Amino acid sequence: MSTGWDAQFGSKTFTGAVADKYLKKQGESAALLADPKWVETKADKVAAAVMEWGRDNEANVYTHWFQPLGANGVRHGMTGQVHNYFFTFGKDGKPNYKFDGETMIKGETDGSSYPNGGLRATHTAGGYTIIDPSSPIFIRGDTVHIPCIFISWTGHALDEKTPLLRAEQALNKEGVRFLKNLGYDVSGVQSNIGLEQEFFLVPRDAYARRLDLQMTGRTVIGRMAPRGQEMCDHYFAPLNQHALECIKAMQEEAFLLGIPLKTRHREVAPNQYEMAPYFGHCTSQIDQNLMAMQICDEVAARFGLACLFQEKPFAGINGSGKHNNWSLGTKEGINLLNAAQITKASGKKEIFPVLMAALVSAVDKHGDLMRSAIASPGNDFRLGACEAPPAIISTYLGDSLTKFLDDFRKGTADNYAPPKKMLKSGVDIVPDFEVPAEDRNRTSPFPYGGHRFEFRAVGSAQNVSLVNTVLCAITADALREFSDKIEAGQKPVDVAKQALDQHWRVIFNGNGYDPTWKDEANKRGIWRIDNGVEAMGKLTDEKNVKLFGGLGIMSKEELAARRDVNYVHYTGMVEMEALSLLDMLRQQIIPAMKEAALDCKSLEAAHQAVRKGLDAVHHEEDIAKKAQLARTLRLEIMDEARKACDAAEEICPAHLWPIATYKELLFLD
Ligand code: ADP
Ligand code: MG
Repeated sequence: MSTGWDAQFGSKTFTGAVADKYLKKQGESAALLADPKWVETKADKVAAAVMEWGRDNEANVYTHWFQPLGANGVRHGMTGQVHNYFFTFGKDGKPNYKFDGETMIKGETDGSSYPNGGLRATHTAGGYTIIDPSSPIFIRGDTVHIPCIFISWTGHALDEKTPLLRAEQALNKEGVRFLKNLGYDVSGVQSNIGLEQEFFLVPRDAYARRLDLQMTGRTVIGRMAPRGQEMCDHYFAPLNQHALECIKAMQEEAFLLGIPLKTRHREVAPNQYEMAPYFGHCTSQIDQNLMAMQICDEVAARFGLACLFQEKPFAGINGSGKHNNWSLGTKEGINLLNAAQITKASGKKEIFPVLMAALVSAVDKHGDLMRSAIASPGNDFRLGACEAPPAIISTYLGDSLTKFLDDFRKGTADNYAPPKKMLKSGVDIVPDFEVPAEDRNRTSPFPYGGHRFEFRAVGSAQNVSLVNTVLCAITADALREFSDKIEAGQKPVDVAKQALDQHWRVIFNGNGYDPTWKDEANKRGIWRIDNGVEAMGKLTDEKNVKLFGGLGIMSKEELAARRDVNYVHYTGMVEMEALSLLDMLRQQIIPAMKEAALDCKSLEAAHQAVRKGLDAVHHEEDIAKKAQLARTLRLEIMDEARKACDAAEEICPAHLWPIATYKELLFLD
């Protein structure tokens, strides 16, 4: 790429030099945007600048852009947007361009068709979009996007983002207080994330011949192709030229929006890919991830491909995740999870181990919430299979950090310095070089990897707002508890030692895929929730209502709303999958088998069983029980039905088989 292209980075984002140019004309500068107070004091000026910038970029339209509740894994509608022209019509009947601060910072919208989990009745459906000044305004196509929260007339969060911002606020407050108690003054604490996004790219014409993929994002049937991932020859292989051109175009569009999709590579399953951005502040990273997913979807269509984000689109090969790399930083840019950096910046060697003790206690106490935040229909297939961490929440710290914390609780630790070793290749002309003395652990749901934790169990299709709301909340809660004790007169080191003793059991450095780990985890009494629907219900457990309520993040009603929306969403997803299967059976597969003069008895039986299972779901009134029945339908009944279909596919002549096969879907090259 030329340096000319470099200058385009973030050119469609209203920050830095881009914003400065237009704000100068209003007698202001981009520095104004750093303090969210501008929303109250200078909104008119910013609005005028935004509109002028928009029009210079051929964007005559604006939208309040928000994250509706429960849009996890929905192909369309991960974000909400109603587009409006900037202009009204003047007396002369011509467009009269005007955009004032009031209009920019808040909007009243109906939005009543969204699920709200009982937070508002149909006849009192006022919903408000209000600007989130922590995430930059950007242009996509002809539309200026204004990142917003979405709340009801009663102030309840109707979206995924409001609780996240509240959780960041709690983390900031408790983080600053905690560090002050340890003798280190900072202006703020925030969480930083980098999301590794996995996805599949499949030929669009084959995709169009799969009702299940089109409707639900996953194949409910399909015989494995003769070749899968047994050679591991896809992993990190050169990108096939068709996919490469498409991914380049995705990266270019993201680049203009200031989304640094830094890494791209093939993943282990055929036609599976990954992109990862350079990490940053959690709230804007999530906005960027949601927009990146939209870009991938749209660009893939232009290239004759379909982009699949669902966690398990194909049986028999790996599914997709979205590793949520997570760290804590000060507003000054110090990484609190980097032992050397924080010790040097603060001059206090206790901060790192005391903070680690707080985090270990948070994971042990609230592993149920971490599990709940990753409960989604697609993730139900992934968690526990040998490709994603198990549904047991533990943390891997690695031997050296574990030993350091063990020494620390015994009072014999000094500074933590991760050991290094010299790597020798045995080739004289290749120099030896230094590497961490410890390997990584990819079987842990929440391993520490040097300077960050990696929440590996997160699903690829998820909006990760709730995931990060939980991480911020449980951290804020642990820091608050530590501060309370310290302020009551206990020594920070003693508080940390007690916490480590109490929560040591959640540290697990072994192989999480090992079947014996399940028994061991049960013995230790750490959180293990295999059933995704059960995990959803945890949001409103008494302990969690207290946690979120106490930190001002979510009220009981807001938690119940999320839980209920998740149940309904789960059931809805399964209904679509079952109905797709029924249609494919009745309208495509059974007729094809008849044409081939092949036996259809097992297919008829499969059809009946799925129909019956679906009827049972429909007859159940209670939404939690309904979701449980739906779970049984897809994981047991539909799985049995699948076997009949896949057996039929094996014997049906190819020219009569009516739906796209795994061979056609998975091998672009
Ligand atoms: P891996 O080798 O684990 O697959 P990748 O390079 O694919 O690593 O992705 C790692 C992600 O973690 C990137 O998005 C990167 O920016 C992010 N990351 C790195 N350091 C931090 C940190 N301190 N806090 C949060 N995210 C980080
Ligand atoms: Mg990666």
